[in-house]
Amino acid sequence: MKTYIVGNFKLNFTVGEASIYLHKLLKALPIYRDVEVAIAPSTIALQPLSLQIDRHKMKLAAQNAFYRDYGAFTGETSFSQLRGIVDYAIIGHSERRHIFGEDDKCVQKKVAAAVRNRITPILCIGETESERAFGETADVVRDQLIGGLAEVSDDEIDRVIVAYEPVWAISSTKAAKLATPDEVAEVVKLIRKIMKETYGEEVAEKMPILFGGSVNSSNAGAYLTVPGVNGLLIGGSSLILNEFVDIIEIAKRVRS
Ligand code: PEP
Repeated sequence: MKTYIVGNFKLNFTVGEASIYLHKLLKALPIYRDVEVAIAPSTIALQPLSLQIDRHKMKLAAQNAFYRDYGAFTGETSFSQLRGIVDYAIIGHSERRHIFGEDDKCVQKKVAAAVRNRITPILCIGETESERAFGETADVVRDQLIGGLAEVSDDEIDRVIVAYEPVWAISSTKAAKLATPDEVAEVVKLIRKIMKETYGEEVAEKMPILFGGSVNSSNAGAYLTVPGVNGLLIGGSSLILNEFVDIIEIAKRVRS
């Protein structure tokens, strides 16, 4: 299985800035066949960057899209419009769930729409700080995982990536708020167990699981060596080009 390194720019960079970043990233990166790199700039930058990108080196991901393909949905962009432009889409990110009120029903329709449009969904799941404190992590992860995948058929389930992102560890600057490799290992094991019970062993073993939560070049190696982790979803550190390149190099070294 490849190692996935996905940079989520969130609401940062103009189209011009994203284009300059991509130019420099393409120059800095060799082709790594076993490390799949993707960046997720703002929706407005996806089309121009799709003309600039070298898909042998890296791919584009959408940060979000709407589940209906067309119609009276002012302000939305559909997965069908992004078909051919992006290879991946981040779906169910905690900021979408908590700031924009996306529930598991909405997330499951988006996951299905991505698959229908040949875009690989990166389904984000993870508990909040209080859910963890109340011992609800396993239930939350189970509900978000089963809920998010509910509209994907058994034939298409192997086209999904899951990202475990504990909400309390996202955009953290405090060491106490970083997930430990052991905490990540425990939840990743649980995700594979739920996948095995629901879809069988082969699907469970082959599904890429990424970790996200304040990953930087100092902790990337530790997270990448957690059993069952196949890559990283990176927010803040992906905005710093050298940092993102360093993390990709670490991923390459961990693989070799
Ligand atoms: C994210 O946006 O998915 C994320 C993990 O952000 P950060 O790396 O900044 O915590």
